[in-house]
Amino acid sequence: MEHITSTPTMKAPAERFTGDVYLNMIATPTEPARLAAGLMRFTPGARTNWHSHALGQVLYITDGVGLVGTRDGNVVRVSAGETLACPPGEEHWHGATGTTLMAHIALVVGDGNGDGTTWLEPVTDEQYASAVADVG
Ligand code: MN
Repeated sequence: MEHITSTPTMKAPAERFTGDVYLNMIATPTEPARLAAGLMRFTPGARTNWHSHALGQVLYITDGVGLVGTRDGNVVRVSAGETLACPPGEEHWHGATGTTLMAHIALVVGDGNGDGTTWLEPVTDEQYASAVADVG
C-alpha cells in the first residue's frame, strides 16, 4: 500500500487554462496502471482550453457550480454531487461559472501515451460569455 498524506497544489499551466485553476494530483499513471485522477479547482471565470480525451473522462463535481461545453454549442451546468461523463474523442471544455468557484475530481484512463488528452485552443471570452448567458 501507499499512503499519501498530502499532495502539493499546483497552478494549472496558462497554455492549457484561462484564469486561475489549481490542481492536486490524486493518482498518476504508473505502468501498467493507467488511471490518472486529480482534484481541480476553478476560480470564477476560469476554464480549460478546448480538449479531448482518447478514452473519455469522468468528472465528479465536489464543490460549487460549473459549466461544461461541447462543439455543438451544448452547455451543461453542473453542481456539487453531480457526475459528467465525456465520451472518447469529444472536444469539450470545463470550468467555473462567472460568479462561483467549481471544483471537480477528473478521472481519465491513459491510452499508453500519457493521459490521452489532446489539448487545443483556448475557449474565447466570447464563447465563454455565450455559455454563461445560456446556463451559467
Ligand atoms: Mn475534459
